[in-house]
Amino acid sequence: MSGLLVTIDGPAGSGKTTVSRLLAAELGCIYVDTGALYRGVAVAATDAGVSPEDPEGLARLLDGLTLELVPGPEANRVIINGQDITDRLRTPEVTMAASAASAHPVVRQWLLDTQRSLGKNNDAVFEGRDMGTVVFPHAPFKFFLVADPKVRAKRRFLELSQKGGAPPLEEVEADMARRDENDSTRATAPLRKPDGAVAIDSTSMTPEQVVAVMARHVRKHLGDVQGKL
Ligand code: C5P
Repeated sequence: MSGLLVTIDGPAGSGKTTVSRLLAAELGCIYVDTGALYRGVAVAATDAGVSPEDPEGLARLLDGLTLELVPGPEANRVIINGQDITDRLRTPEVTMAASAASAHPVVRQWLLDTQRSLGKNNDAVFEGRDMGTVVFPHAPFKFFLVADPKVRAKRRFLELSQKGGAPPLEEVEADMARRDENDSTRATAPLRKPDGAVAIDSTSMTPEQVVAVMARHVRKHLGDVQGKL
């Protein structure tokens, strides 16, 4: 397939990463987890002793930083200044720092080129918060994935438990509510349903069911889209 660009936006725990990975495998393209880029910036800031709330400090940090995302079928790897830091991306501290850092225009602007060049050079499924609104507003296929907040918190709790380190469920739920609030009320690129996006509520759906709906939609309209390329 060529010229295939799919965006999936939605809040934490809506199933974006799992669904993106499965959909990319189904369509024969790469998937890009853009949250991993924001998490990479958060790791770099932590290591440099820069607060994720400090835009000037972040600007100085980004000036000397190289950050690369290497797509893979099972996971995306993140390399900062030549070092693979993928295993450090998913701690609760990095998660909250990523949410804080991502509110600053300097960070969002800095990551824009990285994301757009990945989209230019590959058929891809991109997942994040502003894929269909800001990064790829003209993407031919856009989805907005939502789910009940309690179900989303439970999913994240189970995921963290499987990795061996989950805080209590109430804490996961509170952190997620705080992140939802940060991500959807910030002034720059807030999370919202992109124009033209197909909304899917995954509350009572398996990832495979969500992927089936998305793949059907893409295949149904692919001919029209390729005709316009
Ligand atoms: O998707 P994930 O939970 O890994 O994202 C971590 C954080 O990065 C989010 O809470 C959000 O603040 C930020 N993010 C963003 N825009 C994106 C992807 C992630 O602001 N496109």
